[in-house]
Amino acid sequence: MSFNSQIQAVAYCRTPYKQKFGIPRQPGLVSAARGFVELAPPFNQIDAVRGLEQYSHLWLLFCFHENLAAGWKTTVRPPRLGGNEKLGVFATRSTFRPNGIGQSVVKLHGVHTHKGKVSLEISGMDLLDGTPIIDIKPYIPFSDAITDAKGGIAQEAPVLVDVSFSEKAQQQLESYQQNPDYPRLAELIEGVLAQDPRPAYKKAKTDPKLYQVALYDLDILWVITEAGIEVTELRASQV
Ligand code: SAM
Repeated sequence: MSFNSQIQAVAYCRTPYKQKFGIPRQPGLVSAARGFVELAPPFNQIDAVRGLEQYSHLWLLFCFHENLAAGWKTTVRPPRLGGNEKLGVFATRSTFRPNGIGQSVVKLHGVHTHKGKVSLEISGMDLLDGTPIIDIKPYIPFSDAITDAKGGIAQEAPVLVDVSFSEKAQQQLESYQQNPDYPRLAELIEGVLAQDPRPAYKKAKTDPKLYQVALYDLDILWVITEAGIEVTELRASQV
């Protein structure tokens, strides 16, 4: 039985993540990721967010819009299990879901209203830039934080790898440090790469490949080393 609902985007998320590769698997893993939830007409009314500033965190319900066309399957291969084992789609946080809905808790830094624009300043999101937001709710610790809950295959945060910067990358980084368009860039790069974004099946091998993640309008190039991950270069995005 389907129901007729006019679900529409109430906002769009602006994030540093311009491609899916490299986005953390869950929110809160890279707190240096700063962005905004920009409310869309006709929801961009100051009254609609009145009192929101009294909460420290928000739930964002959103649409995995870049995966909708791919549809969904009853079972998926969670990356955490190395891509080998299958679980039911509802037993995972897969991005390929019947209604394509995701949910993330993010930190709220401020509510900005200016000339008809209403935007929520946030951090720690795991969303692609431009992701449609279908609902915004305050996080309520007494009922949302269940400290003794069992986390199944996702009981612990991912193990982090060491991230270093080549001399060239370090110099390039310094030229961005004071630029307000790239807030906390070094921490963001470190936080994203410490998750080792490669697919699980790649992680076992030594890997000579040159990788790239897109953050803001930059391509961050990196390689795998004995010690972990080395950032080799930052360059203006080729996209
Ligand atoms: N916290 C959410 C949840 O549990 O529903 C999302 C978890 S999902 C595993 C996080 C991944 O979704 C990110 O690493 C990224 O690859 C993907 N993603 C984020 N925004 C997306 C979008 N708009 N369309 C498709 N995939 C997206």
